[in-house]
Amino acid sequence: MVTGQRRTFSVPVLRRVLLHVKGEILWHEPLAPHTSLQVGGIADVLVIPADVEDVIRVVRSARMSHVPLMVLGGTNVIIRDKGIRGIVMQLKYLTNIQEEASQLVYAQAGVRLPRLMQFAFGRKLSGMEWAAGIPGTVGGGVVMNAGTRLGEMQDVLHAVDFVTIHGKRKRVDASTLSFLYRKTRLPQGIVVGAWIQLRSAAKDTIQSATKHYLQYRKTTQPLTLPNAGSVFKNPTGDSAGRLIEAAGLKGMRIGDAEVSMKHANFIVNRGGATAEQVLTLVRTVRDQVARKFGVRLQLEWKVVGEK
Ligand SMILES: Cc1cc2nc3c(=O)[nH]c(=O)nc-3n(C[C@H](O)[C@H](O)[C@H](O)COP(=O)(O)OP(=O)(O)OC[C@H]3O[C@@H](n4cnc5c(N)ncnc54)[C@H](O)[C@@H]3O)c2cc1C
Repeated sequence: MVTGQRRTFSVPVLRRVLLHVKGEILWHEPLAPHTSLQVGGIADVLVIPADVEDVIRVVRSARMSHVPLMVLGGTNVIIRDKGIRGIVMQLKYLTNIQEEASQLVYAQAGVRLPRLMQFAFGRKLSGMEWAAGIPGTVGGGVVMNAGTRLGEMQDVLHAVDFVTIHGKRKRVDASTLSFLYRKTRLPQGIVVGAWIQLRSAAKDTIQSATKHYLQYRKTTQPLTLPNAGSVFKNPTGDSAGRLIEAAGLKGMRIGDAEVSMKHANFIVNRGGATAEQVLTLVRTVRDQVARKFGVRLQLEWKVVGEK
């Protein structure tokens, strides 16, 4: 989520907005280490709220002062080299998870999907196997309708714990939302948690599905190098990776940004890539695939930050 208008903000203005925050406040924080691709510039300020009340406090005062605010999970976003003006919020302290009712799990937005999957497994609950190996958070997973061929967030999402841009907390039933491929249509605001509806199953059944999928990822994806997951959405009836590979673009490199040799729909950071190099490579791949096959690939990544 991004709210507010783009502007430069002085430290005194931001200090006033963040006056009552209980969590951590990191000024001029380099964001690359907070992302899985490890590129991108500096945030004016990175805020790590202590709890949901803290989130509400920041949302309300940021709105009153017209300071933009975005949430960063960090595994499907590319942050431009000039960084992000305003407030970046990371929800890494919102990590509670519990079985609230039979087979209904509540997870706060900062819980990583693999942990939610492990939690479900420990209680012999099935439904999250698709999340094996997806490193994002529950919040990002809801916003992106994260998923794989095994399933996606919309299959298990019961309701969303949500803070509106006015700083009001409300429960949004999943039945009132529409889900697209890697996108949930949500009102503007911040996901602070989600109720996930699972079902009982034998541990063996759950384990064999996740094991199989993790193995598949290991053999097909460049997991040992920094990356941000799939670059492009799969066009209907085809796969972005197949098209990029068929266009002969595997291994193409701009600076330290490289189209993975292992999976053509991944761009990896060979060490010192900049966001500019990554985004130039993205444009080049998109143009060449369009020229060769007449297919305009749509970006799955979210690109954020100052141009
Ligand atoms: C190795 C690897 C494999 C991956 N495999 C898959 C896969 O198989 N399937 C898949 O779907 N994805 C995959 N991903 C991508 C990613 O993990 C998911 O899309 C995940 O859902 C994004 O979560 P995130 O928390 O990192 O959010 P980010 O990537 O940081 O954010 C995505 C968007 O959601 C917004 N956002 C994040 N959290 C919140 C919140 N709490 N409230 C409001 N807005 C929010 C951000 O502002 C941004 O616009 C993979 C990534 C990697 C690195």
